[in-house]
Amino acid sequence: MADVIDGKKVAEEVVGKVKTLSGALHAKGASRPGLAVVIVGEDPASQVYVSSKSRTAKECGFHSVQHTLPADTTEDELLGLIHDMNADHAIHGILVQLPLPSHIDAGKVIQAIAPDKDVDGFHFVNVGKLGAGEMETAFVPCTPAGSMLLIERVRGKDLSGLNAVVVGRSNIVGKPMANLLLAANCTVTVAHSRTKDLPALARTADILVAAVGRPEMVKGDWVKPGATVIDVGINRIPAPDKGPGKSRLVGDVAYEGAAQVAGAITPVPGGVGPMTIAMLMANTVTSAYLAAGLDRPS
Ligand code: NDP
Repeated sequence: MADVIDGKKVAEEVVGKVKTLSGALHAKGASRPGLAVVIVGEDPASQVYVSSKSRTAKECGFHSVQHTLPADTTEDELLGLIHDMNADHAIHGILVQLPLPSHIDAGKVIQAIAPDKDVDGFHFVNVGKLGAGEMETAFVPCTPAGSMLLIERVRGKDLSGLNAVVVGRSNIVGKPMANLLLAANCTVTVAHSRTKDLPALARTADILVAAVGRPEMVKGDWVKPGATVIDVGINRIPAPDKGPGKSRLVGDVAYEGAAQVAGAITPVPGGVGPMTIAMLMANTVTSAYLAAGLDRPS
C-alpha cells in the first residue's frame, strides 16, 4: 500500500514558516506583508476560496485586504483598482479570483498586475521566468509549487533520471508543473486530451501528476509500481450512498486502485488542495522581503 502524502500537514508547516518570516520582517522595521484579494460577483465556490485565503493571510500576520466587487463592475473599474494596488506600498501581493464575469477580459486584468506583486504567478513575466528556469526571481503558480513541495518530501529536491508524466497542459497547473519538474532534472512528458494511449504513457512515470478535471480518470493499472502519484484534481460527484442530493469530492485519480500500486500518493481532499493557499502565503511573504530590499527567504 502506498504512503499517503499528508498535504494538510505540509501546508501547516509552510504557513508556520511564513508566520515566522512575517514576524521577523516586522521586527526588522519593514512593513507587514500585504495581500489583496479581489473577487467580482457572487460565485459561491469563489467566495469560499477567497474567504479562506483572507483568513489564512490574517493567521500569517499579514495586512489582509479583500475587495468584493459587484458582478456588474466594469473592466475599467477593475483595472483602476489594480492600478491603485500596484502603487500601494502596503500591498505586496495581488490576487484576482478567477473566473471573472464574461464581460471582463481576464487576460487583460492579470497582465495589469505588477509582475513583482503577481503572487499567483500568472503574469507573462513570471511565466517567462519559470520557462527560462529563472527560479530565483520567478513567482511560481501556487498549485504546481505546492505539488512540487510534496514531491520533494517523497523524492528529495534533485529528481535526476526520473520520468515524470503530467496529465493536463493548462497554464495554471499542467505547464508550470512540467517546467518545475524539468528544473528539478526530470525527463518530462506532458499529456493532454489528444495524447494517444495515455495508460501506457502513464505507466512509464516515476512521478505521475494528474491535473485533468475528470473524476477518477487515472486508474490503478495506469500507475507504475512504486510511482509517486500527485492528484491535483478536485471534482464534486453525486454520492447517493450518503443520502439524497449529497455529494463528495474525488480527484482525477481512482484512489483505491492507485494506492495499491503507487509508492506514495496524495489523497483528495487533504493532498494538493491545502498546499495552494499555503504557497500563496509563501509567495506573498517573499514579495514583501524583496520589496524591503532583503534576500528572498529560502
Ligand atoms: P483545465 O480544464 O484548464 O485543463 C485540463 C487539462 O486536462 C487540459 O490540458 C486537457 O487537455 C486535459 N484533459 C482533459 N480531458 C483529458 C483526457 N480525457 N485525457 C487527457 N487529458 C485530458 O483544468 P486545470 O488545469 O485548471 O485543473 C485541473 C484539475 O485540477 C481540476 O480538477 C481542477 O479543479 C483542479 N485544480 C485544483 C487546484 C487545487 O488547489 N488543488 C487548483 C487548480 C485546479 P486539452 O488541453 O487537450 O484540452
